[in-house]
Amino acid sequence: MDKKRNIGWKPDYKLQFSPLFSEPLNLVKIFKFIFYYPGLLLPWNLIFLLISLGLFYFLTPEIKSFTTFNLEIFFFLFIRNLLLIILIWGSLHYLLYKIKIQNNDYKYNSEFPKSNNKAFLFKNQTFDNIFLTIFSAVPIWTSYEYFTFYCFSNNFFQTISFASNPIYSIFLIILFIPIFHELHFYLVHRFIHLKLLYKYVHYVHHKNINPGPWSGLAMHPIEHILYFSGILIFLIVPSHPVLVVFYLIRASIGPALTHSGFDKILIRKNKYLEAGHYQHYLHHKYFNCNFGDIIIPIDKWFGTFNDGSMEIKKKNN
Ligand SMILES: [Zn+2]
Ligand SMILES: [Zn+2]
Repeated sequence: MDKKRNIGWKPDYKLQFSPLFSEPLNLVKIFKFIFYYPGLLLPWNLIFLLISLGLFYFLTPEIKSFTTFNLEIFFFLFIRNLLLIILIWGSLHYLLYKIKIQNNDYKYNSEFPKSNNKAFLFKNQTFDNIFLTIFSAVPIWTSYEYFTFYCFSNNFFQTISFASNPIYSIFLIILFIPIFHELHFYLVHRFIHLKLLYKYVHYVHHKNINPGPWSGLAMHPIEHILYFSGILIFLIVPSHPVLVVFYLIRASIGPALTHSGFDKILIRKNKYLEAGHYQHYLHHKYFNCNFGDIIIPIDKWFGTFNDGSMEIKKKNN
């Protein structure tokens, strides 16, 4: 770690895309990427799936109660989502940025955000991020979730069951939802980097040059509307409602990890959980690279991929 030059922690290897779209296709690598740790399923997608199952089966009213709009039910979902995000994001922020359980070990930017920064609402990055999350992200996420259940209840979304379509359901969980979510994220992200949209919309998110967990959904409301709109794919893709909850949980809880600023998170003495999203950290640092994630090599296809080799050079000089 080099505090003077604020180099922080960097991987010693170049970033690479998943083997799913690499040529020649290597089935062993693909199998390992999907099922081994750390990979597509383990640990985070499995955790998101378990959260979704818990929310849907224990904390969601019956689908038939969504046939018309009911303010009480909307409010219930809003509070449930708000508590969930405060619990998970708040804990992550508390551990990594408040009591600093691992100081700046595995932190990409060796410095912690300054508390007095005029660029942010209330001159404070964390307060700004929390405000945008509570008053824009969670209401818009909840609205999409309500709309999802409304569509299932009125048969605008076609419902399938696990029992009658087990392989198709597993395909949705393991491949379709992560891949589609990433593709949708890339397209929306490229769109809001167009000059005018960046100037009036996406700049809000990019104020976070040194992001933390709460920066994940610190966005302009228009960006939230576009970001969560991926669930409209279920107008044409039959699914079980719990899988749309899974899509939304990935989209709402996941950004705490992609923006945590740490590559690994300490879970007990000298044991770390893989949680890095270095490619997105580089996007926040340089703005015009790595618009997507690592499953689909779209950034490579369009010449916007930054594999971190510049950073490795800086580190070694
Ligand atoms: Zn971001
Ligand atoms: Zn961006």
